Amino acid sequence: MNPQKPSFSSSISTFTILFNCVISLLVVAKTTSDHDFPHFESSTSFIKPLDNPKNQTPPRPPPPPVPPLSPPDCTVWTSACSEEVLRLAKNPENTEWLKSIRRRIHENPELAFEEFETSKLIRHELDNMEISYRFPLAKTGIRAMVGTGGPPFVAVRADMDALPIQEAVEWEHKSKNAGKMHACGHDAHVTMLLGAAKILKAREHHLKGTVILLFQPAEEAGNGAKRMIGDGALENVEAIFALHVSHQHPTAIIGSRSGPLLAGCGFFRAVITGKEGGAGNPHHSVDPVLAASSAVISLQGIVSREANPLDSQVVSVTSFNGGDDLDIIPDNVVLGGTFRAFSNTSFYHILQRIEENRPGFSDALQQSTSEKEYTIYPPTVNDEKMYEHIKRVAIDLVGPTNFVVVPPMMGAEDFSFYSEVVPAGFFYIGIRNETLGSTHTGHSPHFMIDENVLPIGAATHATIAERYLNEHG
Ligand SMILES: [Zn+2]
Ligand SMILES: [Zn+2]
Repeated sequence: MNPQKPSFSSSISTFTILFNCVISLLVVAKTTSDHDFPHFESSTSFIKPLDNPKNQTPPRPPPPPVPPLSPPDCTVWTSACSEEVLRLAKNPENTEWLKSIRRRIHENPELAFEEFETSKLIRHELDNMEISYRFPLAKTGIRAMVGTGGPPFVAVRADMDALPIQEAVEWEHKSKNAGKMHACGHDAHVTMLLGAAKILKAREHHLKGTVILLFQPAEEAGNGAKRMIGDGALENVEAIFALHVSHQHPTAIIGSRSGPLLAGCGFFRAVITGKEGGAGNPHHSVDPVLAASSAVISLQGIVSREANPLDSQVVSVTSFNGGDDLDIIPDNVVLGGTFRAFSNTSFYHILQRIEENRPGFSDALQQSTSEKEYTIYPPTVNDEKMYEHIKRVAIDLVGPTNFVVVPPMMGAEDFSFYSEVVPAGFFYIGIRNETLGSTHTGHSPHFMIDENVLPIGAATHATIAERYLNEHG
C-alpha cells in the first residue's frame, strides 16, 4: 500500500490499556472455568475441617466430576464461538508457529512477481494442513480452498511482495536480501492468512460454504490483483475481505469505514516533442518547453477550477525534464505526475481530463499506454454491508473499545480491483507499540511490527470468513 501521513489523535493509546484488560480478563475467565476449578474444590475441602476440627459431621460427598467444556456449537454465532477462535489462535504453540513463519518471510523479501520462495513456503504450509489450492495465478499467486467446496464462496486476500528498500532495523531476523525489505508488513499479512487457514481447517465442519484464501503477488507494483482476477481468483466469489497493518493504531486495534476508504491513484508520464523550424528560419520551431509549461498550467487547473471542492481530488505534476544545454531548445520534455480521487467517477473523470488536456499532451500519453495501464489503482470503496460485517466481527472478537471508525486516506491499494468486481471490505489492524518501537510508517527502512498482532489478525480473518458463511450459507 502507498504510505499514509499520520492523522490519528494520540488519545488512541487509551485503547491499548483497555485492550490488554479485555485480553487479561478473557485469559482469567478461561483458566478459572477450566483447569483451575478442580483445584479450587480440593482446597475448599482441605480448609473446612480446620475451621471446626471437633465437628463430627461426616464430610460431604465429593461433587460430581465437572464435564470438560465442549467447543460451542456455532450454528448460531455467539461470543463463545469468538472466544473459541481466539483460543485456537492464541494457543502458545500456534503463536510460536505464526512468529516463525513471519520471520522466515521477513528474512527473505521478494519483489513484485518474484515471490517464488514466499509462494513455495505458503504452499508447503498449506500441504501440511491438507488444504487444496490452485497454483499459479498471476505467476506466483495461490488460490486455496477450505470448506464444503460449494456456495457461498467468500474470499480473504493477503499480498506477498516486498519493497526495494534496504532494511535499517537491526534485529535477529533482518532482511538477508540486500536492498529488499518487507517494509509494508506484507510478511505479516501472509502469516495472518496462513493462521486463518489453520483455524478454518480445524473448524471446517462448521463452515456452511467455502472460504477462498488468495495469496497475491505484486501489490506494490504491477497490479497483481488485476492479474489474479484475470486468472480466476474471484470465480464464484460473492464477497472479499483483506486487512493492512497500521502503525497509526496500537497493536490489534481494528479500524475501518463504510464507503471510500483509500483513494484511487494514477501516475502519468508524457513526452512532448518539439518541431524544428524551416531551414531558412530556425527560430520558428515548436518549443517543447513552452508546450510542456502550458500543459502544466492546464493540468493544475483540472482540480482547482473544475472539481467539486467538497470532493477531495489531486493532480500534481512531479517531474519535468528537458535538455541540459543552456543555449539550445531541447528536442523534447518529459513530464509526469500523479492524480488521486476517492470516487470511481471522479477518478476516471480526472484521467479523461488529463488525456483531453492538450492535443500534444494527449498524443504523448496515448503513446505510453502500457505504462499508464500499469500505474492506475482505482479507489478502494468498502461496501456498506461488508463494513458492517467487519465491525460486528471485530467488536465481538476484541471488544467495542478496540474498534475505531477511520477517516478516508489518500493512500492507494490494489485491493480496489477486487472491490470493483464484488462487494468488498478492507480494514486496518494496529501494530503500534511504543515500547518495541513499531511506530514507523510503511515504506520506511525503520518499519517494524509488533508480532503480538499475528494471532489476533489470524482470528479476525477466520471469524470474518466463517461468520460470513454462517450468515449467508
Ligand atoms: Zn506498501
Ligand atoms: Zn502494503
